[in-house]
Amino acid sequence: MLNDEIEVEKTNLKMLELCQECGRVYYKALIFTCSHCGGKLIEADYRIAEVVIKLIDLGFKVSWSYLGYHNNLNEQGPGTQICIYFDDKYPASVFGDLPPEWYLSEYYIQEEENGQEIGFSALVCECYHDDNVLDDKNMNFDIKVTTSNMVTWLNDKDPEGNRAFLILSGCRLGGNRVFERNDEVMSLKEILDLVSKEV
Ligand SMILES: [Zn+2]
Repeated sequence: MLNDEIEVEKTNLKMLELCQECGRVYYKALIFTCSHCGGKLIEADYRIAEVVIKLIDLGFKVSWSYLGYHNNLNEQGPGTQICIYFDDKYPASVFGDLPPEWYLSEYYIQEEENGQEIGFSALVCECYHDDNVLDDKNMNFDIKVTTSNMVTWLNDKDPEGNRAFLILSGCRLGGNRVFERNDEVMSLKEILDLVSKEV
């Protein structure tokens, strides 16, 4: 096995479904679209769900996300990589002064019709773990610290102001803002409490 291959058993994924349009969270949903707004449901690991929901609330269009453990991330030792892929390319200034471990990246998709490559934005986090205490508890703690930093950073942004800026920049807004977010039966916090107790 290559050093940087993902070790699934260590990654311990627990996925939630989030509405791409309104950010509502579903747990073990048996549907593919949001029962409130008809938006597409996208999967997100429970450890990054709050970050993705905040991004949707700020008007960003999230297309998919990924969290994976690597034995030797960037040849710098054990680490968890988080990628949040967007359905648009955003001005770099929107993501200026990101918290530690987070950076703005780009990915490209080739159009089928003309072979043209289109660039999209992605937020990437590289979270390294201490080699000596490599267990779920410590790794999840590291992930919690870095995602909490990101949530704090996103909380400092004004959703209406951010949405106005995205429109002025020629970006497509992701969904409508939901002021009364009534999640399916359980709140995000209740769902996260439940998921974290599952083995
Ligand atoms: Zn929805």
